Amino acid sequence: MTQEDKNMAKVQKLFDFIDASPTAFHAVENVRKELEKKAFSEFSEGDTWRLSKARKGYVVRNSSSLIAFAIPEKKIKGFRIYSAHTDSPVFRVKENPELTFGEYIRINVEKYGGMIVSSWFDRPLSLAGRVLFEKGGKIEEKLVNIDRNLFVIPNVAIHMNSDINNGYKYQVQKDVPPLFAKGKKGAFAKLVSEETGLKPEEILASDLFVYPRQKGFTFGAKDEFAASPRLDDLACVYAGLKGFLDSKDSEYVRVLALFDNEEVGSGTKQGAGSTFLEDVLFRICESLSYSRTEYLKLLHESFALSADNAHGVHPAMSEKADPVNRPELNGGVVLKFNGNQKYATDAVSAAFVRKIAKDEGLKLQDYANNSDIPGGSTLGNISTGHVSIRTADIGLAQLAMHSSCETMGSKDYEDLIKLACAYFGK
Ligand code: ZN
Repeated sequence: MTQEDKNMAKVQKLFDFIDASPTAFHAVENVRKELEKKAFSEFSEGDTWRLSKARKGYVVRNSSSLIAFAIPEKKIKGFRIYSAHTDSPVFRVKENPELTFGEYIRINVEKYGGMIVSSWFDRPLSLAGRVLFEKGGKIEEKLVNIDRNLFVIPNVAIHMNSDINNGYKYQVQKDVPPLFAKGKKGAFAKLVSEETGLKPEEILASDLFVYPRQKGFTFGAKDEFAASPRLDDLACVYAGLKGFLDSKDSEYVRVLALFDNEEVGSGTKQGAGSTFLEDVLFRICESLSYSRTEYLKLLHESFALSADNAHGVHPAMSEKADPVNRPELNGGVVLKFNGNQKYATDAVSAAFVRKIAKDEGLKLQDYANNSDIPGGSTLGNISTGHVSIRTADIGLAQLAMHSSCETMGSKDYEDLIKLACAYFGK
């Protein structure tokens, strides 16, 4: 197998993971399965933990965020944390989901995060999420992913909207509700009931999302490019997981922290702005009978990599990029800088990451916003508000961020796995 073939096989595995993870709930479930295969056991936040050296575990909050950890055999020096986010911009189904016009039934949706709305039109869409139901007097939860074409958001013909190519302001409530059925009201509840095997009266509540059914694919003269929904940020989630599982026991507690709700500002009980990471790190220490002072000493020696995709320079609009700090696809993992600290990287953390990359013979490239254009934000600086440790923001260069199908380089992904593995210890 040539190196190119190996890269392709790895990217195909990423596509399979993304395809099986239409929502944050599914991403966490799929990560959980891979951890269980490697003998990681689940710890509940509702239990007292009894941890020991060389113990591998994970904690799930809200079924949509997950923190996995591997405690070393040796004396602990600190934590090595890698974080990424499980959510992507998507349309969320509202309560009372059916909108009718004559015999048409459309689904009442709202935006979750900031997507490129036009990229969702005229393509097959489906439904996934979780359903909460009553069973024997208890409330239980079930994931649902309907694996068939269920909806399309049809464009209005150009003859009736002749200005569309001059720019169009989408009104989500009016323009976006996906076309679902013809007939009488009640088809949506019937579908959810059939797909979950639950009676309509058993279903108490749901978090359901409309997602694009596009599968990942490579393209280009030499398959240079990889395109898929949700590359931001499931590519960083899966590369982090691979690097984490490939890494070896070191003097650090290795921590993989996957947060939901980055796309809506991280301010939820399971987001990077919550106490989730702090709670887990502290409870690991507490369970090993460390004092609070010893815990704080460990934080002092710790490091965090916050991995979230970065804008690659776009050939159609290169003036939007910094003149020189403009990553290209397949140019290596991106290290992100921002003067206003939207990215947590500073000289200390950049030096740390550059040394690892240098030792591994991996290319890095730098990203900064064009100074006249505000950029996005990510997990790193939000997370350090709760657990104050040295942090660098990294990611993979991509185009079409927040489109229903995004494009990255097919080779960079392999580099991120290697970087994550070397960071954790190999
Ligand atoms: Zn992101």
